Amino acid sequence: MNDTIDQYNELVERLLALSVAYYDNDAPLVSDYEYDMMNNSLKRMEAEHPDWIRPDSPTQHVGGHVSEAFAPVEHPVPLESLQDVFSFEEVEAFVARMDEAVAAAHEFVTEPKIDGLSVAVEYRGGRFYRGATRGNGEVGEDVTENLRTVRSLPKTLKNAPPRLIVRGEVYMSHEVFFEQNARRELTGEAPLANPRNAAAGSLRQLDPAVCAERTLDVIFFNIQLAEGASYDTHYETLEAMAAMGLPVVAHTLCRTAGECVDTIRRIGEGREGYPFDIDGAVVKLNGLAQREALGSTAKYPRWAAAYKYPPEKKPSRVTDILVQVGRTGVLTPKAVIEPVRLAGTTVTNATLHNQDFIENLGVNIGDTVLVQKAGEIIPEVLAVTEKNSEGYFRLPAVCPVCGAPVERDIDGAAMRCTGAECPAQRLRNIVHFASKEAMDIDGLGPAVVEALDRKGLIRTPAELYGLAAEDVAGVDRMGKKSAENLIAAIEESKSRGLARLLCAFGIRQVGSKAGKVLARSFRSLDDLMAATEDELTAIGDIGPVTAKYITEWLRSDQGRHQIALLREAGVSFESAEDVGDNRFLGRTFVLTGTLEGFTRAEAEEIIERLGGKASSSVSKKTSYVLAGENPGSKRTKAEALGVPVITEAEFREMIE
Ligand code: NAD
Repeated sequence: MNDTIDQYNELVERLLALSVAYYDNDAPLVSDYEYDMMNNSLKRMEAEHPDWIRPDSPTQHVGGHVSEAFAPVEHPVPLESLQDVFSFEEVEAFVARMDEAVAAAHEFVTEPKIDGLSVAVEYRGGRFYRGATRGNGEVGEDVTENLRTVRSLPKTLKNAPPRLIVRGEVYMSHEVFFEQNARRELTGEAPLANPRNAAAGSLRQLDPAVCAERTLDVIFFNIQLAEGASYDTHYETLEAMAAMGLPVVAHTLCRTAGECVDTIRRIGEGREGYPFDIDGAVVKLNGLAQREALGSTAKYPRWAAAYKYPPEKKPSRVTDILVQVGRTGVLTPKAVIEPVRLAGTTVTNATLHNQDFIENLGVNIGDTVLVQKAGEIIPEVLAVTEKNSEGYFRLPAVCPVCGAPVERDIDGAAMRCTGAECPAQRLRNIVHFASKEAMDIDGLGPAVVEALDRKGLIRTPAELYGLAAEDVAGVDRMGKKSAENLIAAIEESKSRGLARLLCAFGIRQVGSKAGKVLARSFRSLDDLMAATEDELTAIGDIGPVTAKYITEWLRSDQGRHQIALLREAGVSFESAEDVGDNRFLGRTFVLTGTLEGFTRAEAEEIIERLGGKASSSVSKKTSYVLAGENPGSKRTKAEALGVPVITEAEFREMIE
């Protein structure tokens, strides 16, 4: 092909920009397949013109950066990427290369390739110690606190080596993804685009409470480091991890190229049966000594290849574009398309995410588009294949429901209705207020709320408490008994307590988990209203952005009005959470050296019981470094940063 160096440079720049959107912002601008195809063109150009290769080309390093918002963690063993192959012939060629390179008889292990976020998790003395993202492969981001909220991550292991680092993939299961999106649909928030980005976005939240609400899982596929243990094969390491209690990826031993291809086919056919998304299958050489002998390129190991399954996609025509307004006022565009069968279901609409996405595609009503089930779940418009219209669709400048002006978020792509009285937001606010995780009012679903609104009976959640059985009887075909039950359920909800009330307010980023965290730290709503943003972030589990949303809402006219009405109605503002002894609230401790009177685990448990946090790395935010015998570099770092260093005796005094 007659490529020019300018074309090469342009492609490098485009791929780098797409990588930033994908890895750093967890918000891809194109599908993985499109990215892979562009990347293949780049690889071809570089093979034909090796003198063009730029050191910053995406083929020369592992994608992803380390955000400064997290403490850096150096990976003692790098977290590499994988070489991709897109056909069975390439799998056979890979096996043939291994046949040539490795003299001794050899085997392969074939595994599904989980589409999530790569992490390295460290255990010390069999206890979960720290976890980090892949980052640039050499240095990752410390996401220990967020990983603690991952439900399938064992916090202790059986018979583990004294120091163990395992590599795995954090994912959002299909079940959780569906639940989250069903809830978002109800509350009017923009849906999560696909499980991969949902998992990555959640694990890289600054606020562990937000991460916890997204219920993530993890599955492991490699031992990076195991002090004092030795293994001969990869298969053996997977079995050893499983015996320690770690969830491990399915693994099939294969001896020939044919067996590898058959296993890849079988994994592909069973894709819909896995609880997570699979974007391929990985074939790995089994012998660990053989792997070592082969080594790695700058980006990936020579002893493994990832086969990528082609995504299922089909053309269809956009017959309409609908704009929905969510509870937080976000306008979400959705393309209505002529029905097509995709991955086993009939698809009639596809997400268009936001204005940037639409602009990027250049899509409008009437165009023929290529539709794909991204992550096999939410259908997505991939590209315009036939332009039958002028320009691209523009989200309205005024809210389609209430007519108030629409504004773009300063810090994102979302467009929001600014109308405080917008009926779309108002209704969804009430539905959210009554939902299971908030005030849990049995019998008050979206249909009843809409019917009550139509009769002009409720404008705000607080007005629910003024309803009588006579008002609601007959609404949405409700009988006398049901009406009485509903009123009783509304009455009962008055004593739910502060945690649920905070969740019910519908403040951005404050769900049930953050509600509980706040209610544990503040005894009443009045205490919370008196708190500053700094006091909120000092709790440790509330990030600065969430803190800002909370204080803004509590001080807004709308917030103050709601609170006054609820107070008048007799709703409890008190915390029902067991506050207990919280003397270490907002304090972070880092332990170094050997303690005499406690094991490290015991000391950490005491700190956590008293409301504090035990962290593994020292930063300016660390409150104390507790130094035992033979303290390590953490003590030196604490001194350099001016973080107080305390002795074991001083710690004893603090806890007495
Ligand atoms: P990769 O995702 O293709 O492969 C490496 C990853 O696979 C590892 O990080 C590992 O965590 C994971 N993995 C899952 N199961 C595994 C198993 N059983 N064994 C070993 N590893 C396993 O490579 P990459 O370098 O992270 O990124 C390239 C991918 O990212 C491509 O799929 C590309 O499409 C996508 N990407 C997309 C965009 C976009 O704009 N859509 C941009 C950049 C990258």
